[in-house]
Amino acid sequence: MSQRILGVKGMNDLLPPDIAVWQVLEAAARETFRRFGYEEARTPAVEDTALFVRSVGEATDIVGKEMYTFEDKAGRSLSLRPEGTAPLVRAYVEHAVAQKEPVTRWWYLGPMFRYERMKTGRYRQFWQVGAEAYGVRAPAQETELIDLAMQLFDAVGLEGIRVELNSLGDPETRGVYLESLRTFLRAHRTELCAECQERTEKNPLRVFDCKNPSCQAVLALAPAITDGLSGEARAHFEAVQRQLGLLGIPFRVNPRMVRGIDYYTRTAFEFLSDDPVLGTASAVGGGGRYDRLVKELGGPDTPAVGWALGMDRLTLLLQAKGTVQPVRPGLFVAVAEESAADAALALVSRLRRAGHRVDFDARSGSLKSQMKRADKSGATYALVLGSRELTSGEAHLKPLAGGEPVPVRLDALEATLRAARAATAGPL
Ligand code: AMP
Repeated sequence: MSQRILGVKGMNDLLPPDIAVWQVLEAAARETFRRFGYEEARTPAVEDTALFVRSVGEATDIVGKEMYTFEDKAGRSLSLRPEGTAPLVRAYVEHAVAQKEPVTRWWYLGPMFRYERMKTGRYRQFWQVGAEAYGVRAPAQETELIDLAMQLFDAVGLEGIRVELNSLGDPETRGVYLESLRTFLRAHRTELCAECQERTEKNPLRVFDCKNPSCQAVLALAPAITDGLSGEARAHFEAVQRQLGLLGIPFRVNPRMVRGIDYYTRTAFEFLSDDPVLGTASAVGGGGRYDRLVKELGGPDTPAVGWALGMDRLTLLLQAKGTVQPVRPGLFVAVAEESAADAALALVSRLRRAGHRVDFDARSGSLKSQMKRADKSGATYALVLGSRELTSGEAHLKPLAGGEPVPVRLDALEATLRAARAATAGPL
């Protein structure tokens, strides 16, 4: 045998039966976005590297250390997208969407790529579902998006996800805060790791991203960004908090939660879970307002808010709950003898066309082995087709979980299965 080629480290295959959990999450996301009036947008997995450098920011870990960047054959620098917001803004600007409608609300779903150190819930290809809203300066936009995420968690039965909230203020007034933070960090220089010493000068807000315990200890005493907000930014932040209260969404203000991306202005938020299945990867999502980004990427001055949820982590939570059941066939058709195989093939096709989930063993084989496969498939009923059934036009529906077989006319099978489905709400 030749040597096996393995998948790339940190990039997962999502296969049955686990994929069922992903499908439930995706279906719930689509349905929740429908209720909120968000429309799907799909962009390529690859973008011009400059897009991420300019938006996410050069001093961030994402751009500085984690991007999959390569040259194509024409010598262009391209990157696998590490996140979804910048590509959507690029598309929003490129297709002049702002000129066509004052408010645009999009959602997306797809794989993202970051060369990160792996652990539970942290991969190099991971999946995000995200939402972005362009054109609204009012705090109700943040509130709507946070409500959307919470309703999505509810739709899949995920409880106990917490909201943390912060305001990063406006870029015009952030300078004063950044100076006071820098002065503070310089005074604690020797307690900071080498990287944070560098961040202090280059982009002091990024020190908050550091996981190093001694840096964290310093930051616990750092000036809070929320203390330096302008009157307008403060009123905006208070309005978001009041509106979340109005909708009954609990939250906690965390002035040290600054998000690992440069483009945020005013409100930033994160969705967190304390479920041990996630290990230390407790953030299941995050987002915020980014009123400058559309303009910085060449579009008109357009306010925007968005979030992204980590689907790998949400599916870990869902899997641990064990509430998602794999979809099972309603009926398994087996043949008593080879001469009935063609009739069985035609019957299965007919029932599938009528909308029933039906299975059979294309290998035929012994009735015993077919019935074994029927049991394994988890089908609700089995039906054995032989020359007797074909001559009389009548067969039996045998409940595989036990119970008496029910006689059924072959030409009325669709209706019988439909009635059984209605009665049990099962997967017939
Ligand atoms: P971020 O905007 O970087 O905070 O990402 C939003 C969400 O995506 C996070 O809260 C995680 O749930 C998820 N996420 C980010 N990076 C990864 C990764 N490397 N592996 C799995 N999920 C991730």
